[in-house]
Amino acid sequence: MPIRTVVWGENVHEQKNRIVAEIYPKGMHHCIADALNTDAGISATTATLQEPEHGLPAERLAETDVLLWWGHAAHGQVSDAVVERVAEQVWAGMGLILLHSAHFAKIFKRIMGTPCNLTWREAGERERLWVTSRSHPIARGLPDHFELENEEMYGEPFGVPEPMETVFVSWFQGGEVFRSGLTYRRGAGNVFYFRPGHETYPTYHDASVQTVLKNAVHWAHNPAARIADVNAAPNVPVQTALEPITERGPRLHQDGEEGLR
Ligand code: ZN
Repeated sequence: MPIRTVVWGENVHEQKNRIVAEIYPKGMHHCIADALNTDAGISATTATLQEPEHGLPAERLAETDVLLWWGHAAHGQVSDAVVERVAEQVWAGMGLILLHSAHFAKIFKRIMGTPCNLTWREAGERERLWVTSRSHPIARGLPDHFELENEEMYGEPFGVPEPMETVFVSWFQGGEVFRSGLTYRRGAGNVFYFRPGHETYPTYHDASVQTVLKNAVHWAHNPAARIADVNAAPNVPVQTALEPITERGPRLHQDGEEGLR
């Protein structure tokens, strides 16, 4: 069964900016989904901010193996309830891939717990991505480095926690460097941040970028059954302890109660 993948696109610049609309006539989310669907092991559909519940109702997320997220202009319009729903699915085992300006998406900040800030410049300069973990599955099939002739610059320091692994670093013509491919584990979910993808450049048409995204979907997919109640925190009464114990000292709670949150 192919990996059930949803590409979430904010779909704002494509509707308002002529240049972006010319590069991505069907929207960036469709361009990315079309690229993913050239891989027989992936079945990608799309969702957008404008759809009810941003196209991510609970039933759909429950049947999504990997979610990709591109946002920029409208992070603040994303419903907190949907953000929490996505976070819980990640903790329960759904893969999540954050693209470019999604470094400031509510969902990324929620699961990173840090400001996720960086330095930036929009000057169409060359970006050279270096593979820093050559045997990593996300870098499979790539040369030691590849270039994007026009990209927005993102520079360090990048305000994220130390990753599990750094798969790519980027060099920019202006001299800055950036950790541009980072892996995390949050609960049972695999999380990947991938830097390129500024909307006024044809980045998602690039073959190497498409290879990274396809590899990342395979890497992020956790085939284990989704954890049913990821927030559960059950009380274990003395009588049901695995080894016999005698209760000692004062207590605040009753056996089996829900506890404080
Ligand atoms: Zn950008």
